[in-house]
Amino acid sequence: MNKEILNRFRRALVRHRDSLRNWLSSDSSAKERCLCGEGQKCEATLHAHDAAIACIDRGDFGICTVCGEDMAPERLEMDFTASVCLEHYSQEKLRALERDLELAAKVQQQLLPAAYPALPEVDIAAMARPAQIVGGDYYDFFCTPAGLQGFAIADVMGKGLPASMLMSSLQASLRIIGPEYQELPDVAARLNELFRYNLKLIRFITLFLCAVDPQKQQIVYTNAGHHPPLLRKRSGEVEWLNPTGPAIGLIHAPEYKASSARFGPGDMLLLYTDGLLEARNELEEEFGEERLAGFAHDHANGDAKTFLARLHREVERFTGGKIHDDLTLLVLKAVENSDTTP
Ligand SMILES: [Zn+2]
Repeated sequence: MNKEILNRFRRALVRHRDSLRNWLSSDSSAKERCLCGEGQKCEATLHAHDAAIACIDRGDFGICTVCGEDMAPERLEMDFTASVCLEHYSQEKLRALERDLELAAKVQQQLLPAAYPALPEVDIAAMARPAQIVGGDYYDFFCTPAGLQGFAIADVMGKGLPASMLMSSLQASLRIIGPEYQELPDVAARLNELFRYNLKLIRFITLFLCAVDPQKQQIVYTNAGHHPPLLRKRSGEVEWLNPTGPAIGLIHAPEYKASSARFGPGDMLLLYTDGLLEARNELEEEFGEERLAGFAHDHANGDAKTFLARLHREVERFTGGKIHDDLTLLVLKAVENSDTTP
């Protein structure tokens, strides 16, 4: 298989594995739970990743056990543990798979919100661009019981029908659970319990939930293992909203914490998925956090839509138009008071 594609698989697997491992080693209570048997899923997930990485390093990753040829990368993107190419499937099984994919694409189209919530204090812009027919990214809006506007962004590991069914189920669950729980960590904890039994071995969901409180000029958030969103202050300073708990579906009853950040006029919050940081140029360099922070520092003076368009252009330019992964971006900008707007 093409070396570049193999490298991409390896990086994605290493990143997912390391984020799980880091979290396991940073949170002693999580570790205890793992040691007392609740962590079998973590161990199995780590093991599946390690095994696939070892295959890549040995040079036998993605080789079909029936014909001994390379499997199509798309097949492995849907399931990195696949061991047989699609050609060996019966016609009947193949047709079923095609129907699944068509359905998945439809489900996914309908998942994205049709309109932005109308908030006088917050300017909103979003884009979602799946790299394959169906991607594993998702964003949504919800309301908290206190009447605050909630925002969610998620990354489901895996692609195709299983991933998009999961997203559709996440959306339905969030819309029901979001308005029921006063605190975001309780929303995350409830979703975790719901999904823990539904997630297949290698799948999990990273999820960032936040609610904007215009009165207090702050955002409260819970980050379940998602890439840290970037908060760009009006002053130009950049802050990362780091995980406050593990990804959804990994272990039983993890503790999610709430955190908050000031979100005053002129401040901007960027929520994004893997595809942004992992976008690569022809030298195989990643777009990465440093580049993103620098870009946000220099280019966040306009409205949300302008920033989104600039960032998308920048990533296109960086990759030479070849964005491999799904790319989903959600920009929230606290509107400046009329007397401070130029
Ligand atoms: Zn084969």
